[in-house]
Amino acid sequence: MAKVYVIGHRAPDTDSVCSAIAYARFKREVEGVDAEAVRADEINPETEYVLKYFNVSIPPLLEDAKGKKLVLVDHNEFSQAVKGVEKAEIVEVLDHHRIDFKYPEPLLFHVEPVGSTATLVTKKYFERGVKIPREVAGILLAAILSDTVVFRSATCTPVDREVALKLAEIVQVDPEKFGVEIKKSKASLKGKSASEILMSDFKDYEFKGVKVGIGQVELVDLEEALERKEEILKEMEEKRRKEGYGLILMMLTDIIKEGTELLAVGEKLDIVEKAFGKKVKDGSIYLEGVMSRKKQVIPPIERAFE
Ligand code: MG
Ligand code: MG
Ligand code: MG
Repeated sequence: MAKVYVIGHRAPDTDSVCSAIAYARFKREVEGVDAEAVRADEINPETEYVLKYFNVSIPPLLEDAKGKKLVLVDHNEFSQAVKGVEKAEIVEVLDHHRIDFKYPEPLLFHVEPVGSTATLVTKKYFERGVKIPREVAGILLAAILSDTVVFRSATCTPVDREVALKLAEIVQVDPEKFGVEIKKSKASLKGKSASEILMSDFKDYEFKGVKVGIGQVELVDLEEALERKEEILKEMEEKRRKEGYGLILMMLTDIIKEGTELLAVGEKLDIVEKAFGKKVKDGSIYLEGVMSRKKQVIPPIERAFE
């Protein structure tokens, strides 16, 4: 059988990369499948930190998926997938996002509303009663902590917490301390251009035929980002014009204060105001308690488009 490539979304986050690595290894070592983890883009500093920490190598880049067999992890929307996905053969999906997927063939499609894909990979190990190697447990734990913002995100479920505590026991780390350490490794904006900040975790959506882009950075100090607000807004406006977005949003999320300054540009600002019941002032709105794009930003935006 041809090799299967396990791959996360473009502009990959720690969950996308670490879940791909761990799930490819599970498929090889437990299921006996010829599987290899790959990535769709460059990894971010947080993921780099995590992989170095556990001495795990960075998966190779898959530039074009045309003609390849793919397992999609941590996404199911083609707009977020690797280049060439339309001409690839999808054999499986393992994910924790909203479903926006259509495929002409039957396939294994596993989506659960948990805080991270890594939670689902870990559960697969537990279900098979297979011992998780320490470095695999480490990257899975890091992915859960990353996606749930150290258990603080609205997306975090009791299952994520339970699974993470078991992983932490294998790895022998304090999850809270380790989580904040991971988050700090990517939190600083120093030395990053406005475009790098905007694109570091940027996802494309389509609502009612309108192209919408939503980026996010997680920070331990919002002030550092607010100082560069004008610059980031300018970058967003340029991207909107060049690439035909109806709306671009950028979440500047303070993980300590637990809130988000939401920057917005585009013709559809009324949608943002309708979604959050607040006026956009100087290009942004502050949203108390909002930390999750998936659970607290996309649903109200999608409803406002209806
Ligand atoms: Mg992700
Ligand atoms: Mg995820
Ligand atoms: Mg994420």
